[in-house]
Amino acid sequence: MKTYLLEIVTPERKVYSDDVEMLITKAESGEIGILAGHTPLVASLAIGPLRVKKNGAEILMSIMKGFMEVTETKVVILAEAAELAEEIDIDRAMRAKERAEERIRAKEDVLDFKRAELALQRAVTRIKVSGK
Ligand code: ATP
Repeated sequence: MKTYLLEIVTPERKVYSDDVEMLITKAESGEIGILAGHTPLVASLAIGPLRVKKNGAEILMSIMKGFMEVTETKVVILAEAAELAEEIDIDRAMRAKERAEERIRAKEDVLDFKRAELALQRAVTRIKVSGK
């Protein structure tokens, strides 16, 4: 299968850089899959998993919002945070999930509720990605 260069970068580090056959992730507009030769585009990414296919193997990551730019030669993802499945600290994610659920139950103010919902989405995504 034809490959293309995928680079995933956060403000802190380069998370991934390699030739891949396919990626599947969650754009704000819905699930999106990119094969080599895809039409150039820019998409906003949601909080969710990212699956990469390469040589019959699958690599799983979590992406915490960002932008994806697809050009003729490569795909670049600029994410607020991103982790490979094996980098995820499951205990930390479980603690983040509990804290977020507690804040959602407390319903103190709208802004905190919204923030807690996003923190919960991040934690749930990390737990799912690290568990697969
Ligand atoms: P926490 O409350 O545990 O910090 P968070 O969702 O607020 O979670 P982020 O702001 O999304 O964390 O990420 C901050 C940094 O910590 C990023 O570099 C991110 O990759 C890393 N990170 C967050 N949670 C985990 C985790 N469970 N395992 C590994 N790295 C994590």
